[in-house]
Amino acid sequence: MAAVSIRNLAKRYDDNEVMRDINLDIEDGEFVVFVGPSGCGKSTLLRMIAGLEEISDGDLDIGTRRMNDVPASKRGVAMVFQSYALYPHMSLYDNMAFGLKIAGKSKAEIDAAVQHAAKILHIDHLLDRKPRALSGGQRQRVAIGRAITRQPSVFLFDEPLSNLDAALRVKMRLEFAKLHDELKTTMIYVTHDQIEAMTLADKIVVLSEGRIEQVGSPQQLYHHPANRFVAGFIGSPKMNFIDGSVAAIQAEGVQVQLPGGGLQWAAVDGSTLQAGQKVTLGVRPEHLNIAEGQAALQARCTALELLGDFSYLYAAYEGSEDALILRVPDSLDPPHGSLLHLAADPARCHLFGADGQALPRLASSGAAQRQH
Ligand code: ADP
Ligand code: MG
Repeated sequence: MAAVSIRNLAKRYDDNEVMRDINLDIEDGEFVVFVGPSGCGKSTLLRMIAGLEEISDGDLDIGTRRMNDVPASKRGVAMVFQSYALYPHMSLYDNMAFGLKIAGKSKAEIDAAVQHAAKILHIDHLLDRKPRALSGGQRQRVAIGRAITRQPSVFLFDEPLSNLDAALRVKMRLEFAKLHDELKTTMIYVTHDQIEAMTLADKIVVLSEGRIEQVGSPQQLYHHPANRFVAGFIGSPKMNFIDGSVAAIQAEGVQVQLPGGGLQWAAVDGSTLQAGQKVTLGVRPEHLNIAEGQAALQARCTALELLGDFSYLYAAYEGSEDALILRVPDSLDPPHGSLLHLAADPARCHLFGADGQALPRLASSGAAQRQH
């Protein structure tokens, strides 16, 4: 087991800088998830940690050792890729034993390591089979098993579940959580699936265009996104953003004037704002409500998606093509085109300045407190 420390890391391909200013501390035993849109640098960062990509600038330490110039095989890490990369002509046993044989381990050592890994992953009854006689999920287990046998101090996973169907992904997600519970080894896991990120991570690292946007627990990122990018990226369906301007500032929050002239309070610290300034209100679909009394915003229902227990209602308002999304009870069935009066609990509102940075929230819903 080992901690990982990354200081001012950068990556260039020729003159093209694809990652910059990466600073990150991963604690010993932590489960850290890298998320971000395709092309943001998740795999590149993981591969630099693994030793599969050269580090252009900065420092990488694993444990107490600087690893920049240490070859991949000597870093004490094991990586599992999206494609399983098993040897088709070898049995599962031999697939898992291969790395240890190359490393010159004894037969007894190899057997103990393979049996141990196979047991953890529930594939101990399949060890004689060839990869082609396995399902996708079982194959991925073998790839994970191969990593476990190496007893790495850090596991690196690059979208390990992306090739599996949805039901199997859910199942394997739980297995990853159990695996971490059992091994307690530092794990770094790359995904673009934010449900995987939210459910697995002790700590999520949100990346965009080669930079870290925010690092925090799933709860911190959900309740206290630092900026519009993170606010829009974490949460599904994504947060609604409504442009407005500051109408009033008080100790308990900021009053925002929305399109159509309606007013909505947001429980955020507005001490850096001035009346009249442009801001963007953020409200998640699960927190935007159809109001009984005074509405902050009027919108017309454009579509309804029934999802069983609840529905997603889409609505458009004057001056915006972007549809709003509300999560509503399944009993609610407004006619197409009907006018809706919308409002939100101020404690559930987010507010962003013109620079996209979030204003500190005063009331925190859930246990998460803002951490600086
Ligand atoms: P992600 O895994 O988040 O989808 P990657 O880490 O694969 O993103 O890529 C990050 C950026 O680096 C992208 O812009 C990609 O085009 C670029 N990149 C990755 N590998 C290479 C390479 N071998 N040569 C040049 N550019 C690369
Ligand atoms: Mg990738």
